[in-house]
Amino acid sequence: MDQNDMNSPQMKELVAIAEVLDEAAKYSITLGEEGMRGSSEKTYEIKDSPGRGKGVFATKDILRGSLVVAEKPHMVVKGIDDIGKVFGEFQNMPFKNQAIFMSLQGLPEHKAGVLSQAITPTSREDANAVFAKLAEFFAIWANNRLPRANDMDKVLHLEMCRMNHACLPNALYYNDIESGLFKVIAVKDIAAGEEITRTYSFPLLTREQRQVQLAWWEFVCACPACDISTQFAREVEIRRRSIYQLAVLCNQTVNLKINGFPPKGGLPVELPEMRASEAAIKLSELLLLENVVDIHWKKTYKLAYEFLMREKQWNEAYKWLNEQNEIDILLWGKDDPRQARSQELLESFQTFFFKNGGKLGVSG
Ligand SMILES: [Zn+2]
Repeated sequence: MDQNDMNSPQMKELVAIAEVLDEAAKYSITLGEEGMRGSSEKTYEIKDSPGRGKGVFATKDILRGSLVVAEKPHMVVKGIDDIGKVFGEFQNMPFKNQAIFMSLQGLPEHKAGVLSQAITPTSREDANAVFAKLAEFFAIWANNRLPRANDMDKVLHLEMCRMNHACLPNALYYNDIESGLFKVIAVKDIAAGEEITRTYSFPLLTREQRQVQLAWWEFVCACPACDISTQFAREVEIRRRSIYQLAVLCNQTVNLKINGFPPKGGLPVELPEMRASEAAIKLSELLLLENVVDIHWKKTYKLAYEFLMREKQWNEAYKWLNEQNEIDILLWGKDDPRQARSQELLESFQTFFFKNGGKLGVSG
């Protein structure tokens, strides 16, 4: 494209796009503030989070297992998300949502990246101003989009994209494939006034590995698990090294999203040799201590359950069956058919034991 010709058809098109973006950027709206009005059921608000832009905060006490929000994606971009497709989706949104989009944050490095990849610098100030606007637009998208779990298309939620990171978050989000909704579930009790957080990194990595992933968002996490001067953070670090070693022994690294992330340096943990079955049980115990819930961890609990069943340790086996069920209850709620299946299994297990005169209870 001839960037020195502001009248070329391509340049005119870009100028028109920049004008649409400009118009939307004039208004400062956040969906949270809008949504708060007239909604008595809402348990959160969006407001300033010191040093982190906006954040999502509890307005009431929220119990573990509560659905904080179920939000439909406002933008869906299929396949490669180039700037043209993203702008197409942007234009499909109502003006209010376009304005909210433009009030989101884009990161300087992303913006610089777009400019250096897609645009040859020109001596024309007016052309550069248009390019900078487009780069800003794309940087907002890049910083706030999420991959959709089932197809890897990219989605953006105008409200929940405000949720900030914590390495030990009090909420988890997932894309509920059946409803197409992005759901946020409290995985700890959250007090009114507390910030609601989710993790941006793979949850079971060591501090150093998490910091590498978080660098993409251009911040250094200073949460309690990252403050290595404390006993607490050191315990988390040691545990994560053990988790890695145990996961290797029972082939769970892929499931736990730590495959290819062997912990480096410092705080080495020597584990005695053990069988895969023992490792799976020990690993499950450590996952429970992490107190961070992830749907994939069910597979590890299932493995522990199966090994214990084979060894006829019924009470212990029941414990891990129960933990699987707990995750289902947390994610789907008690009335969902997906939870019902795991409830059925639990009940048939109980029936089997009562019939056989076994003593059932969670031991240990
Ligand atoms: Zn952290």
